[in-house]
Amino acid sequence: MKDRLLKVLKHNFGYDSFRLEQEQVISSVLDQKDVLAIMPTGGGKSICYQLPALMLQGLTVVISPLIALMKDQVDALHANGIAAAFLNSTQSSQEQQKIMQQARTGGLKLLYLAPERLNGGNGQYFFRFLKEVNPVLFAIDEAHCISQWGHDFRPEYLQLSVLKKQFPATPVIALTASADKLTQNDIIEKLELRQPKVFISSFNRPNIYYYIEPKRNAFGSIVEYLRHHKDDSGIIYALSRASTEGIAGRLREVGIAAMHYHAGMDSAERNKVQEQFQRDEIKVIVATIAFGMGIDKSNVRFVIHHDVPKNIEGYYQETGRAGRDGLRSDAILFYSAGDIVKLKKFIAIENNQQQTAIAEKKLRQMQEFCEHEGCRRQYLLQYFGESAPAYCGSCDYCLGELEEKDATVDAQKLLSAISRTGERYGANYVIDVLRGSAAEKILPEHKELKVYGIGKNLKKEEWAWIVKQLLQNGFITKSDDMYSVLKLNEKSWLILRSESQVKLVMKKHKAQAVAEDAPGYEKDLLKMLKEVRLEFAEREHVPAYNIVADTALIELATYLPQNYDELKHISGFGDYKVGKYGSGFINAVKAYSKEHGLESQMHFRKQKKERKERIAPAGPSNTQMVSLKMFKAGLPLDEIAEQRNMTVSTVEGHLAAFIATGELNISQFMPREKAETIMKAIKQTGQVHAIKPIKDLLPEDVSYGEIRMAMEHYKRMQMS
Ligand code: ADP
Ligand code: ZN
Repeated sequence: MKDRLLKVLKHNFGYDSFRLEQEQVISSVLDQKDVLAIMPTGGGKSICYQLPALMLQGLTVVISPLIALMKDQVDALHANGIAAAFLNSTQSSQEQQKIMQQARTGGLKLLYLAPERLNGGNGQYFFRFLKEVNPVLFAIDEAHCISQWGHDFRPEYLQLSVLKKQFPATPVIALTASADKLTQNDIIEKLELRQPKVFISSFNRPNIYYYIEPKRNAFGSIVEYLRHHKDDSGIIYALSRASTEGIAGRLREVGIAAMHYHAGMDSAERNKVQEQFQRDEIKVIVATIAFGMGIDKSNVRFVIHHDVPKNIEGYYQETGRAGRDGLRSDAILFYSAGDIVKLKKFIAIENNQQQTAIAEKKLRQMQEFCEHEGCRRQYLLQYFGESAPAYCGSCDYCLGELEEKDATVDAQKLLSAISRTGERYGANYVIDVLRGSAAEKILPEHKELKVYGIGKNLKKEEWAWIVKQLLQNGFITKSDDMYSVLKLNEKSWLILRSESQVKLVMKKHKAQAVAEDAPGYEKDLLKMLKEVRLEFAEREHVPAYNIVADTALIELATYLPQNYDELKHISGFGDYKVGKYGSGFINAVKAYSKEHGLESQMHFRKQKKERKERIAPAGPSNTQMVSLKMFKAGLPLDEIAEQRNMTVSTVEGHLAAFIATGELNISQFMPREKAETIMKAIKQTGQVHAIKPIKDLLPEDVSYGEIRMAMEHYKRMQMS
């Protein structure tokens, strides 16, 4: 069964594997079960009913709340050669008759409808039509709209409960990105689903990189970011209508073609801006949160919050509009505590203390998230009730570097506290004494000590961090029993007598979005391919990404397929698209390759396919590729280093990038024992981003390059 589903997926949509719970959802639908599928925005909900629609004999009816979205989906299906249509109030009655006739005669696989179709005087007539075609499946998109508990209640959705009454034998699949329990139950109840199978996918969006930056000269930072991302589309959210206009205007003054969007514009104007954005004619939109609902653009590369959002739900939904195609995308928020003060006045709801209190709590959590010292992704996922590791490798915190600080004085304070309390206590007690805790468990005589309260300059966690590092570096010892008593040793006295300095890893320098490297595909070729795509799109009057997604173009610019056979292996090229657009893209790739003396790199693509997860890290850079080629040609590392005039460690660092992708294996570079020793050190530091602390734990002869390799290997093992 699975093979058959994969075949249909590849043939019709050009994808190699299923994402999240897609496969299980589809199998259940094909088993005639009612299903509730909860997936994050961009998770790939559409395939969950589109693929069954192709396999079932008959018509699948899709209920969708937004006319703009319907049209987009139908265009995308047409681009894959699938017979689909929509019915809505923008069409003439002749047009509508034609489509209904097509449905009756079996000429359609999917029909999209707005829920209000089933209401009012026309409702009866419409039901007769549905009876005639007798759908094989109902798909209810944005199903949370049926719930008062959800964030987007639409009364016309309530009417959908008739579907089960009128078509008791037809399975229903409800889909949404809203996760909470109340909404889930409401959907099941109101749609009258029968013993539904509920699938909840992880809310993690691994390809979105989260950054929070202090709001100093936010405009300047935005300009710099945009200059580094000239070819990318993105949204900048701002709080007020006036500021969207102001920011967009200032961007245009510095030569960036940005447009504003807010609910105060008339609807024709708004539609125009939205359409131009969808079609890639405008790359940057500066908008209030009015912008986004109904935007189904898969290649949004960045979402910037110029102002702090009111709550994490909103922030996550807005950032979730980035990277629906699975490619790396950035979410950048400019934070100032001043924004929180401003928002506090904003969010108060007159005469409703209870609602105001809820809003204030959510704002406090937003602030906490912005000020959080730790992995952003972990915070977000835990907020939504999911567990997550403390390191994601793709947020400003995890990508940041640790800074060393001279902590001799603090270490001296700690050591004297250990000594004065008689080397009889564990870390918690000693820290409490240092910080002058009033707790009863602190003995009265300890409250008289000179060290009592001299450590108020640091937080509890910071002291704990110092203890941990002093232990690691052997400046103190800990008893092996259950009491973990801290004791001084000979090395301690070096510090107490100021004969040795203590350098501790203290501060985290967070990574900045602007500073990130560019990816490793052929950038100029990508531009040419986008032009080829735009020509196709203009000819067919559809948005460019409907032809093929950016992901597919980036793959083309990375792997350089030279013929139809190779093109078939590029994600997003199903048989229909290979036939229809193949020659245009292949010709461009071939011409470019010839001009630059490049050849097909498809062998990398094939190896990559074996990886389980597609998380789209930045591709290897050219210099890494050169090292790889030489290594594959059989040259020893020192030879490569000499020829390239670099150190062996640097070459090892290059090759580490291919351990990350699975193209090389660590066993090609060092004996197992060595790899295990390094991995033990990595585990001991509890992180995989800063290399220095790991190096410090290892013998001299372990190089930085070898550590890089082991780190990549370690990360891969954690992921698989
Ligand atoms: P959602 O409705 O959940 O927000 P979509 O159904 O619009 O998401 O899918 C988001 C993007 O992911 C689309 O471009 C879609 O074609 C693509 N996609 C869906 N499933 C897969 C898959 N299995 N492999 C690769 N891309 C996929
Ligand atoms: Zn992280």
